Amino acid sequence: MCVSTHLPAGIVELPRARATVDLVQPRPESVLTAPVYILGAGLTGLSAAHHLRGVDRVVLEKRSEVGGHARSERRDGFTFDVTGHWLHLRDPDMQTLVAELLPDQLVSVTRKTNIFSHGALLSYPFQANLHGLPLAVVQECLVAYIEAQREQAKNPGQPPKTFQAFAEARFGKGIARHFFVPYNTKLWGMHPDQLTADWVSRFIPVPDTEQIVGGALGLRQEGLGYNAQFLYPKAGGIDVLPRALLQVGIASDPAATLHLQTDIEEINPVAGWLKRPGVGTREAYRALVSTLPLPELIARMPTAPAQVREAAANLRWVRWRYLNVATRRPVKADYHWVYVPEWKYPFFRVGVFTNAVDAMAPPGCGALYVELTAREGPVDHAGVVAGLVEIGAIERAEDVLFTDVREIEYAYVVFDDAYAASTQLIHRWLESVGIRSCGRYGAWVYNSMEDSMIQGAAAARWARQAPGKRGRA
Ligand SMILES: Cc1cc2nc3c(=O)[nH]c(=O)nc-3n(C[C@H](O)[C@H](O)[C@H](O)COP(=O)(O)OP(=O)(O)OC[C@H]3O[C@@H](n4cnc5c(N)ncnc54)[C@H](O)[C@@H]3O)c2cc1C
Repeated sequence: MCVSTHLPAGIVELPRARATVDLVQPRPESVLTAPVYILGAGLTGLSAAHHLRGVDRVVLEKRSEVGGHARSERRDGFTFDVTGHWLHLRDPDMQTLVAELLPDQLVSVTRKTNIFSHGALLSYPFQANLHGLPLAVVQECLVAYIEAQREQAKNPGQPPKTFQAFAEARFGKGIARHFFVPYNTKLWGMHPDQLTADWVSRFIPVPDTEQIVGGALGLRQEGLGYNAQFLYPKAGGIDVLPRALLQVGIASDPAATLHLQTDIEEINPVAGWLKRPGVGTREAYRALVSTLPLPELIARMPTAPAQVREAAANLRWVRWRYLNVATRRPVKADYHWVYVPEWKYPFFRVGVFTNAVDAMAPPGCGALYVELTAREGPVDHAGVVAGLVEIGAIERAEDVLFTDVREIEYAYVVFDDAYAASTQLIHRWLESVGIRSCGRYGAWVYNSMEDSMIQGAAAARWARQAPGKRGRA
């Protein structure tokens, strides 16, 4: 592998192409022999590169390190991921890949997750573990659940239009009012009546009536949902995984080139070239796999049709802020993460890395993440720490060694009314011009690390059969 800031050998400059060409017009010979380009070295891009072993390929990554959202940072012996990054593997191919990449380096952890509400620590999920809430709240939730069931029986098969409607129809207005609406408003930074229910099916457990009633009476309903177990590196943070992909998929293969700290200035999908900032040369690609956030990809294609650019302007996403928190003593709470729906707390979720793996902090210390409700303005560190004490996450404010504020520009893509039409139009056009935009932000979806690696593998299969044709710009 070569890591450099120079043009890789064999890259040719192409003449500027016409604005539109036939959909099936073959690319010039020079393009057909050019490398595959992969934009972004997060898990999707790294997986694509790994699955293209032996094929000439160039990976361009903006940051000085690989991993994207699955990177980790270190300070004074503490390790922090970009908030919780717990690995759930369901796909046999991905299980094999990860086992090969990280032999004996992972531990399997049984998830311990709670909800803090009305001063009580409930088991996850809220809807199946109401016991412990004030009795009036339990009664409100159960009565509304029964009413929702009656309504559903009267009007079966009517898909809810918004996320709030989904929560109320499935779980009743009480559970929606005490958990789904406030929690999701804090998380998304917008009311759930502005979100569609498109993303929820795999991620929100839907217990049956027996479980909901049992949970209200105090029968614990554990292990519900898609992520009852997770894997995590025994030592180091989650970036052990992307770094292993880098080693095996890129560093050990002379056909692969990685350029760090490299952005993309312009892409011409018709001619099949791209340009980096400050480098006048056009670099021809045979196939282009992009994992850039979709709006950023389109912004780099001035020749994209107006309709496509308009659709890209409709895409919305949420930005997050969070705190890395280091403690000088072990963390009091025993969960891996806790959901905090009430507005009086300035955060919506708190996780404890050291409850999964001790090695995330020096001996006897703790490492946490705190996902903050407010996206702007000064962070009230003392208020956050006081909230952590109040919910019982940490024992005393003096336990905190340091807190660091971090931002995530692209945290969640927003599933609003414009989402489906805009993403379909953009992806159809990208496909027609021979670009595969994939991964969490390339496909513009809500997905997991495993999904991203699967998408990278699929993109590699696609690129191996390099389209060899170009389309309308
Ligand atoms: C807060 C949060 C918590 C999460 N928790 C979990 C979890 O617990 N479990 C789980 O399985 N998944 C989790 N995920 C999802 C997981 O992070 C993603 O599925 C996965 O990391 C996405 O990988 P990606 O390669 O598609 O995108 P990214 O990680 O975003 O990678 C894209 C890469 O492209 C680079 N890039 C961007 N713009 C440019 C440019 N102009 N030029 C060059 N390079 C560029 C970026 O620097 C980045 O390296 C979480 C995500 C978030 C945001």
